[in-house]
Amino acid sequence: MGIEGVNARISDIRSRIIALQTQAATPASTTTTGTGSTSGTAFAGYLNDAVATQSAPAKTYTLNSQGIPTDLAAYGNGKIPSNALQQVGATGHKLWAPAAEQLTKLIADAKKDGVTIGVTDSYRSYDEQVSLAKRKGLYSQGGLAAQPGTSEHGWGMATDLDLNAKAQSWMRANAARYGFEENVPREPWHWAFQPKT
Ligand SMILES: [Zn+2]
Repeated sequence: MGIEGVNARISDIRSRIIALQTQAATPASTTTTGTGSTSGTAFAGYLNDAVATQSAPAKTYTLNSQGIPTDLAAYGNGKIPSNALQQVGATGHKLWAPAAEQLTKLIADAKKDGVTIGVTDSYRSYDEQVSLAKRKGLYSQGGLAAQPGTSEHGWGMATDLDLNAKAQSWMRANAARYGFEENVPREPWHWAFQPKT
């Protein structure tokens, strides 16, 4: 294509853009009263609206009758791909998205109260649970590990926290507001996400 052809192509594209802008501006000009807004601005607004409409609606998160995240259930306990989970702040630890959001908020709010909350463990894969059960023994045998395939950690629904005495009492006073419950008597570090529904 020579320079003539390129120029012709550019002018064709220009005229298409102008046509689009005119089209886009028409509905706006019938409803606005003499704002004198340019068609370019209207077009930008139109484009923004179109993009906003096309982006996915906010995802809704629910639990099934067994208390398992509906969007994760099909993967299986401890078999959840990393990108289906959400990181807790910048900790590198991951949980089910609503749990990650709440824990991130909880840690930030605790910090405002001068309380430091560390994350030791969160989502745990099936293989990691097998290894943990070998090292710590199963609950059923007096140990500290859930049967692989049944741990709340395997659903990204529990976190193990590094808590000093002050942080432990802060958690006991405040964690429920974020949906976290201390639900294993022998494990004051283990907090399960049990949002009120
Ligand atoms: Zn735990």
